[in-house]
Amino acid sequence: MQRFFLLLICMKHALIVGLGLAGLTYAEQLNRKGLSFHIIDSGSGGSSQIAAGIYNPTVLKRFSLSWNGEVFHSYALPFYKKLEERLSTDFIHPAPIHKIFNKDAEHNLWSSAADKKSLAPFLDPKIYSNREDEVNGNSGYGIVKHTGRVATDVLLKSFKDSLHKDDLSLEVFDYDKLDTTSTGIKYKSIKAKHIVFCQGYQMVNNPLFNKLPLVGSKGEILIIKAPNLKTKVILKGPIFIAPIGDDFYWAGATFERKDKTLVCTKAGKTWLEERILKMISSEFEVIEHITQIRPTVQDRRPLIGTHPNLPNVHLFNGLGSRGVLGAPLMSKWLFDYIEGRSDLPEEVNLRRFESYLRQSL
Ligand SMILES: Cc1cc2nc3c(=O)[nH]c(=O)nc-3n(C[C@H](O)[C@H](O)[C@H](O)COP(=O)(O)OP(=O)(O)OC[C@H]3O[C@@H](n4cnc5c(N)ncnc54)[C@H](O)[C@@H]3O)c2cc1C
Repeated sequence: MQRFFLLLICMKHALIVGLGLAGLTYAEQLNRKGLSFHIIDSGSGGSSQIAAGIYNPTVLKRFSLSWNGEVFHSYALPFYKKLEERLSTDFIHPAPIHKIFNKDAEHNLWSSAADKKSLAPFLDPKIYSNREDEVNGNSGYGIVKHTGRVATDVLLKSFKDSLHKDDLSLEVFDYDKLDTTSTGIKYKSIKAKHIVFCQGYQMVNNPLFNKLPLVGSKGEILIIKAPNLKTKVILKGPIFIAPIGDDFYWAGATFERKDKTLVCTKAGKTWLEERILKMISSEFEVIEHITQIRPTVQDRRPLIGTHPNLPNVHLFNGLGSRGVLGAPLMSKWLFDYIEGRSDLPEEVNLRRFESYLRQSL
């Protein structure tokens, strides 16, 4: 009887592998329901660690709304606000985006986009002329509203610090040590009802899911110091330049599909520097050059759901290049699905690639 009781105490509701935005938002869903979890993370960082964390429900290349942009936006902001309060840490930094126009011909496109019902809450219809000495561009700019930055590095650190030491293991997950049954899973000494893999691009090494078409897109970024720039808004030209405090700015990013190494390249740095020079006239110094791989999917939709043959093994991946806005609501979708409360939207359900998964069995 006593042994049974102890076993129940040690049984977690879920084991989560990976503490990036996917793992964090899923753990927070459990936390809000009072359910227990254990997280395993390699500690070597991922895409969330270096992201600018910009939340922007529009696509500024096409002057359109991003997939589910408004729905994700309206769930994500209150979600992060509540988390900010729970963790007593500021990590949401609202800031408009100034879309610097390339040519005057873009003005009409902007005005008609701002006229659309779906985009009107986000795009200010006015065309502004550039008055800031340090920002280049003769064709002016447009303002995107209700945007900003979630300082993902700060969020991750503060979430990690808030965990009880028994709820987090810093190690690389060993797939050979995983046992699955019809009622739960066992990994080393940890027993749980479910396991949720939230590994970002490193999913390519997971034998249970590595047949899924996670293509990955490498992004290199620069952290620069530009004391004269003094802007508090996010600048969008050929790249984003976002203020991150004091005189430092996040500048990026490259988008590369072939090279999947975590090596910063000279070509990437040069490409970024050229674009920074195009956007600002103030002097800057490169402080850091970093890279990571975005978990992008062949059909540009996330990979969420349950392994077809293993009912307690789940996946939360494919957040692509817009994880900040999408992760909170998608973590709820996955939670509701696992708990049998509702089905997943078909376009994110990994069932669409079931034939790929069966190849690995
Ligand atoms: C340069 C760049 C800029 C970006 N800018 C933005 C932006 O401004 N706005 C936005 O919304 N999105 C942005 N993104 C995208 C965003 O980073 C991703 O959508 C999101 O962070 C992915 O989160 P994730 O949790 O799925 O993966 P990750 O953040 O990669 O987290 C995965 C975690 O799992 C761990 N892990 C993996 N395998 C194992 C294992 N076997 N054992 C233990 N741990 C493991 C890793 O160490 C990591 O901590 C950017 C991405 C890049 C690369």
